[in-house]
Amino acid sequence: MALTQPPPMAPPLAHEQILRRQSLRESAARTYARSLPVVPVRARGLTIEGADGRRYLDCLSGAGTLALGHNHPVVLEAIRAVLDSGAPLHVLDLATPVKDAFTSELFATLPRELAEHGKVQFCGPAGTDAVEAALTLVRTATGRSGLMAFTGAYHGMTAGALAASGGARDTSVTRLPYPYAYRCPFGTGGGRDTGEAADGGGPEAAERGAELSARWAENALADPKSGVPRPAAMILEPVQGEGGVIPAPDSWLRRMREITAAHDVPLIVDEVQTGVGRTGAFWAVEHSGIVPDVLVLSKAIGGSLPLAVIVYREELDTWRPGAHAGTFRGNQLAMAAGAATLAYVRENGLADHAAELGARMLARLRGLAAHHDCIGDVRGRGLMLGVELVDAEGPVGSDGAPPPGSRLAAEVQQQCLDRGLIVELGGRGSAVVRLLPPLTLTDEQADAVLDRLADAIAAAVRSTPGSAGTPLPTMRGTTP
Ligand code: PMP
Repeated sequence: MALTQPPPMAPPLAHEQILRRQSLRESAARTYARSLPVVPVRARGLTIEGADGRRYLDCLSGAGTLALGHNHPVVLEAIRAVLDSGAPLHVLDLATPVKDAFTSELFATLPRELAEHGKVQFCGPAGTDAVEAALTLVRTATGRSGLMAFTGAYHGMTAGALAASGGARDTSVTRLPYPYAYRCPFGTGGGRDTGEAADGGGPEAAERGAELSARWAENALADPKSGVPRPAAMILEPVQGEGGVIPAPDSWLRRMREITAAHDVPLIVDEVQTGVGRTGAFWAVEHSGIVPDVLVLSKAIGGSLPLAVIVYREELDTWRPGAHAGTFRGNQLAMAAGAATLAYVRENGLADHAAELGARMLARLRGLAAHHDCIGDVRGRGLMLGVELVDAEGPVGSDGAPPPGSRLAAEVQQQCLDRGLIVELGGRGSAVVRLLPPLTLTDEQADAVLDRLADAIAAAVRSTPGSAGTPLPTMRGTTP
């Protein structure tokens, strides 16, 4: 076959056959493929076309990777330019013009202190490897080993990253309460959002919960009898993604920065999912103005191809050559695609666009919540949005909220798929419907996404016994 020949078109019925072969051959641990039986053959922007000829609006975006959507022309052009140039594709961690250009573009976007006094380590290509690098870095620099991490956190699937995640049982990790206003461990949550803040439970409850969480963290470090040894670092997500789209209040992030600095504990901010404009600022830390000691970056920085780095204060750069190695740290195509993506987001103000469009979508989702008791909370930041479904008739838990509406959420995801919309689930009991559309999303596309979601929720409520709600027939044309 000539090298330039396009991949063969899927013959009729290929869709079913491919899915059947996948379920026969692939592991029981496969994830998205179970709930999203789509066989993508072509994609552009927000749209994926399946082997069955159906088109889908993709609000999963490679788990938040595709800042510019699928196959954006500037990304394709950057990849083609490398391929046509004859540059080597595999270079370990050697210097190349492509890498140099990526690093320059990355540093141009960073908070000033990190841009001027930061170091970058290229890691193996997954977010989880960058988390491991961050842990090795701070452990080497501090000589300490423990970690402070948060309830609901997700940092990846390798041993160190897993230990830092919310489901872990690692005793070297001190677990602190993340400020989750709707399901607050201090029992201040459960209130329906009033629409005045982007975090659920109402602004006052959010503030109270965040204040208590900050005091807990501070006390764990300040009290010599807290039983918490001074850790090598604190690691947090500015908006928990997999945890259910939970934005941390800016004031809480500033407190975490102050507390860690006061106790000489490096602060690692995991922006694997929140980076590159997603939350309405280029980096989510910009909302609060904090400068972390280590930033963990992956997903969107590779422009749809695998790439992961950490950027950190130069004082931490005390580790030895090879302290965090890996064969695949030199993905030239990802660096070219990533540099093109970073530049496009920066030059076209896509972070501001995400902030504005995300706020409009959030307002419309709140309108929808007013008609469904099964929507416990709606929250988000920029184009990282979540709709938390609950069993409204179930008993209120110790967190002040009704039980997660897990069955209903699974049904909503399927009803979305039937309507040509791909959404992700996350959070406690996988009951949070998550939207992570490309930052290039237009107003019309946003309306189409929300129309389909509203229809899907109404249909799921009708077909799921026991899910309370007084659904409107549709929510068309109600965008504020
Ligand atoms: N950190 C965060 C905040 C993430 O959302 C993820 C992935 N969803 C990771 C780390 C791990 O990234 P990867 O799956 O590329 O290892």
